[in-house]
Amino acid sequence: MREPQADWVSERLSRDHIADYKPFVFVDGEGVRCSLYVSGCLFACDGCFNEAAWSFRYGRPYTTELEDRIIADLGHESVQGLSLLGGEPFLNTGVCLRLIARMRAELGPTKDVWAWSGFTFEQLLAGSPDKVELLRELDVLVDGPFTLAERDLTLPFRGSRNQRVLDVRASLRAGAAVRAQRVA
Ligand code: SF4
Repeated sequence: MREPQADWVSERLSRDHIADYKPFVFVDGEGVRCSLYVSGCLFACDGCFNEAAWSFRYGRPYTTELEDRIIADLGHESVQGLSLLGGEPFLNTGVCLRLIARMRAELGPTKDVWAWSGFTFEQLLAGSPDKVELLRELDVLVDGPFTLAERDLTLPFRGSRNQRVLDVRASLRAGAAVRAQRVA
């Protein structure tokens, strides 16, 4: 696994590509969700579940047509929210922030946002302005790299014990990581 570096910034790395998009899924957070898997990650965790998406050019470009479809899917009454996975969402902040801004503009505050990141909450809070901006848009963050030695497939929404499911709004208010109460 590689440690995050100061030059790991979306502006330099992202090619605005996505590895996959899955509407109406039940496994990427609470409730029915629309999941966007962005392309590109530099953490290189041993045992990564999605190694193909390490390349920033993997998959296909994020387009307005895809965005139209995601917004329409998110608009279904049964959908609780948007999930951002990777790859690494915080090295693809352009795509993620653009989609969230449109979701808020067209659907208001009705949907929540979950994201998975190899960065920790503390690293993101001290990171580049785009990382902090995306962090402030989230309701739940599953943080930290996947660590093979700490793998535990019984944990909800995460693959290793070092990862945390955080209530981002409570964490920002406290200035420190606060675990989401509703997730065991
Ligand atoms: S942070 Fe996630 S996507 Fe990136 S290498 Fe680790 S497990 Fe894979």
